[in-house]
Amino acid sequence: MSCTYAVIAEMRGNQLRQVTFEALDAVQQMASSDDRIIVLAIGYGLQEAVLSLSIPGIAHVYCAEDERYKYYDSEAYFSALRAFVEQESPEVVLFGHTAMGRDLAPMLAAHLRTGQISDVISISQDTDGFAFRRPVYAGKAFETRRFTTQSNPWIITIRPNNFPAFTPENGTLPTHATVSSPAVVALPAPAPSLRTVVRDVVTKMSGSIDLAEAKIIVSGGRGVKSAGGFKPLEQLALVLNGAVGASRGACDAGYCDYALQIGQTGKVVTPEIYFACGISGAIQHLAGMSQSRVIIAINIDPEAPIFQVADYGIVGDLFEVVPLLTTEFRKM
Ligand code: FAD
Repeated sequence: MSCTYAVIAEMRGNQLRQVTFEALDAVQQMASSDDRIIVLAIGYGLQEAVLSLSIPGIAHVYCAEDERYKYYDSEAYFSALRAFVEQESPEVVLFGHTAMGRDLAPMLAAHLRTGQISDVISISQDTDGFAFRRPVYAGKAFETRRFTTQSNPWIITIRPNNFPAFTPENGTLPTHATVSSPAVVALPAPAPSLRTVVRDVVTKMSGSIDLAEAKIIVSGGRGVKSAGGFKPLEQLALVLNGAVGASRGACDAGYCDYALQIGQTGKVVTPEIYFACGISGAIQHLAGMSQSRVIIAINIDPEAPIFQVADYGIVGDLFEVVPLLTTEFRKM
């Protein structure tokens, strides 16, 4: 039986967020050649997004475009999403496990009285069908979940930076033989009587790279000792084209903005390389970064718990070690 996979695209400004292409990779792993792959983009100014979705194998790109979608708003976006799902009746709906996906996906699952599997980091298949692996207990354990037969559609959110971003150069959607390029369909914007409207959004990002999508993160803790102490970390991040993050200790001390906080009550990140500089490695911090591919810890205390999760540890003063690393990486 063929099935429809719907990816809910996510925008940053006029461009698609990388997690949209990571969701397409998840679809690539699950779909077969007679399935249908569709994408919904909600926003204002979707031309660039539509262009980057002209991928063989995607049957339709649905565009819900309206000035009211310029900024993310639960009520407005959900009304567009609901109209799309009711019209297309997909069997599988995928979101990024981002602020938007974490908001919309459960609203949709509750509305449709169906099941949701959140924060998926990998997908496997055996004789019982697909199984979805996800971290639990702040990354200290993993569980594997399956949908039951009563659950339709399947609602899935995928953790950013865990699936490779799909491109036609690095993969082929199973449906590419039947669909050479997507048809673009404008969806009429439903006009809900919104109870609140977003007037303005002030974004705080670490440089120009979003922490959630950064491949390299240089994070500082209370060990940086002052706001100025972040300067060497910023320089290392700049050389490595990475983003700067922080522990809550550094945020609470006023050394940096809370937008940089990584951990249980901050952002969850899974970069390829995570530098922990002057961070002790409290469990609440590990909850946000322990899934990083390579962890490099720099700490003056050889007993600091961060060394237990680090792949590489440097016992030393970050104010000496970080500038040395910057100098060496600059030579490469
Ligand atoms: P510290 O624990 O003070 O560690 C500083 C480290 O710097 C030390 O290991 C020290 O040896 C080292 N150091 C000092 N000087 C230097 C130097 N010159 N060179 C190298 N190393 C040096 N924390 C988070 O990070 N994120 C969260 O989301 C979060 N959520 C929380 C939620 C709850 C409910 C609670 C109770 C706590 C939460 N915390 C969170 C706080 C957490 O428990 C820790 O207090 C915090 O992570 C400590 O930050 P830190 O490692 O920067 O500071």
